[in-house]
Amino acid sequence: MSYESLLAQRLVPYVAGEQPKQQKMIKLNTNEHPYGCSPSVKTAIQKEMDQLRLYPDTEATALREAIAETEGLKAEEIFCGNGSDEVLAFSFAAFFAGKDVYAPEITYSFYPVYANLFGVHYHPCVMNPDFSVNLDALKQGGPIVLANPNAPTSLWLDTDQLESLALYTQSIDEILLIDEAYAAFAPETAKRLLCMDNVLIVRTFSKSHGLAGLRVGYAMGNPRLINALRRVRDSFNSYPVDRLAQAGARAAVLDTEWTHSTVNRIIQTRDHCYMTWKASGFSVMKSATNFLFIKVASDDAAPVQRRLRENGILVRHFNSEKLRPYLRITVGTEDDMEQVTRELLNMEC
Ligand SMILES: *Cc1c(COP(=O)(O)O)cnc(C)c1O
Repeated sequence: MSYESLLAQRLVPYVAGEQPKQQKMIKLNTNEHPYGCSPSVKTAIQKEMDQLRLYPDTEATALREAIAETEGLKAEEIFCGNGSDEVLAFSFAAFFAGKDVYAPEITYSFYPVYANLFGVHYHPCVMNPDFSVNLDALKQGGPIVLANPNAPTSLWLDTDQLESLALYTQSIDEILLIDEAYAAFAPETAKRLLCMDNVLIVRTFSKSHGLAGLRVGYAMGNPRLINALRRVRDSFNSYPVDRLAQAGARAAVLDTEWTHSTVNRIIQTRDHCYMTWKASGFSVMKSATNFLFIKVASDDAAPVQRRLRENGILVRHFNSEKLRPYLRITVGTEDDMEQVTRELLNMEC
């Protein structure tokens, strides 16, 4: 006998990175932005505080219009949700429920969790030995989901490569879902594929706009796909993006200058670290994200993660067979990264 439903019993929840109670830790375990959001976000949120008596705009119209304007799209091609995690969950429900879905074996570990929740048959597909995505392995007769750049590998496919997946899925009347959580840190976005009616791109304000705490993400795609997401949303919660989140995210979108300059600074720090670590003999993936994936052990990086933690630095370790020798280290400030480099070099000898 159990009070829980069969559904609840068979859930296998996602495990998020630790949020430490002590403030003093250098926090490089959940890919947050080291410099924070545009100062205009706070002003916009302050102003919105007077309106909290009223429900928010269910369609987040002003925010969608601002996103559409910066992206060169129409507002009807944008859907906003409570973090991109929610937008991804709605996408699994809207496009994948009951189907066989294909994803690279190493990718964002929330996908199999959503699949389990929504009755999706999730198929992890083999990758190349260097952890790059094997495109042909994904073409198995169903819709495809992938993160590009990928996590936690930090590697990136160019848009021509993604186009072959888009054409393939289109030929079998299925969608290609591209999770662009890290696209701001990559050489290009796959946005030009949005001219195809079966491509949905999901983005977040958490990584590139310094707003992980505000919980806003969005999808871009053909209005028919967007309508499917709205139908799922309105079967779950009509107001997933609250007033403060809509106002704050809109201010962040409008301050493109802040986004570009802070993202560029993160990219510079990242590339500097990459070269330093490589020159010190570490095997590091060439990152197109705001984190670095580095091999720090021959079999298990867990002891290195623990030692970093004892020295006040939090990083992420994944305890799966292929990822066990690696650590995923978020790119922090220049000072943060100097400290990490010092610790890594100390441990080597
Ligand atoms: C961080 C991340 C997300 C989730 O972003 P939120 O908007 O904070 O929910 C989605 N996909 C990938 C690949 C991520 O790394």
